[in-house]
Amino acid sequence: MSTHTNPSQFSSANVDPAELAKFSELAHRWWDTESEFKPLHQINPLRLNWIQSLAPLAGQKVVDIGCGGGILSDAMARQGAQVLGVDLAVKSLKVAQLHALEAGTQGVQYREISAEDLAVEQPAQFDVVTCMEMLEHVPDPASIVKACATLVKPGGWVFFSTLNRNPKSFLLAVVGAEYVLNMLPRGTHEYARMIKPSELADWVRAQSLNVMQMKGMTYNPFTRHYALGTDTDVNYLMATQKPVAN
Ligand code: SAH
Repeated sequence: MSTHTNPSQFSSANVDPAELAKFSELAHRWWDTESEFKPLHQINPLRLNWIQSLAPLAGQKVVDIGCGGGILSDAMARQGAQVLGVDLAVKSLKVAQLHALEAGTQGVQYREISAEDLAVEQPAQFDVVTCMEMLEHVPDPASIVKACATLVKPGGWVFFSTLNRNPKSFLLAVVGAEYVLNMLPRGTHEYARMIKPSELADWVRAQSLNVMQMKGMTYNPFTRHYALGTDTDVNYLMATQKPVAN
């Protein structure tokens, strides 16, 4: 029996069934730190610390949009946040849940629901919204940004990370990572879906979120280390905040 999400279920929704199928296929390897998901495990402490530096997580209500196997959700819960991880790939959610059980992680829950549907159900309910490495996999990323802006409380934070779109990012993130270094499966990232920081900033501002900080993330293939810095040419993170209502 297949536990794949039935694509027809989402025919009119903001989801690409082929993208979900890619992640579902690999779902059993989410917590294998030497698998296709190694880069996410490697960057996890960096992004977690960065989020914490702006929005200390202890006691906060957090939603992680496109949580996959829960690499970030789990880590945020371990910092004392109350985390809801959502995704549309059921297999990944099962893996995430199993991991929480096995690792004894408290304060994390997983649910199959779209960002848009959750926004209708729980508007302005979350102190922190994270949406990492996900926007570049959906047909209408602006709609996800809108949902995130709806989910966050006034004064709360929304964190995004994605992949820039330019010749350098194509060379490094697609040709380099998928074809030369074999760090990611071929076809993981589609050039047309990659997002310029200016585009993301436009979608963010259209939802009345303020851009508070941008960070670039770079990979050094010789030391095999990632670092956060000012170079946003390839991978980048954007911290945004919803103004406090007055
Ligand atoms: N955010 C996680 C996983 C990133 S991989 C992390 O950074 O560790 C991208 C994830 O987005 C996958 O789990 C995939 O299933 C999910 N995804 C793709 N399209 C989606 C959609 N329309 N709604 C929710 N999740 C989606």
